[in-house]
Formats: sequence, structure tokens, C-alpha cells
Amino acid sequence: MSNTHCPGFESNKTLSEMKVKCPACEKEWEIFSDELEKTLKCAACGEVVDAKTCVVKK
Ligand SMILES: [Zn+2]
Repeated sequence: MSNTHCPGFESNKTLSEMKVKCPACEKEWEIFSDELEKTLKCAACGEVVDAKTCVVKK
């Protein structure tokens, strides 16, 4: 049972779009900011990528 969440993640209503780049095939695609917490799978090559490490800086 966990009633306590990390403070600061309560209000998660406003999502922004970000761009990530697959380290394996260099395909770029857009995700929503909440997907940064997830592990993504590249649609092009199937590589499993950690979104946080693959964000394309503007
Ligand atoms: Zn890829």
C-alpha cells in the first residue's frame, strides 16, 4: 500500500510535446512529456529506448 507519492508529481495536467531520437537508427519522433517516464520502443527498428536519455535538445 502506498498512499504517499513523490511531491511535485501531483499536478500532471499540462503535457508538452517533446522529440526523441532513437540511438540505434536515429529516427526521430514526438512524444508527450509524460512518456518521458516510460520506456519507449522505436517504431522504425524496434529498439527499446529510455525516453529520458534520448530527448532531442532544441
Ligand atoms: Zn530505431
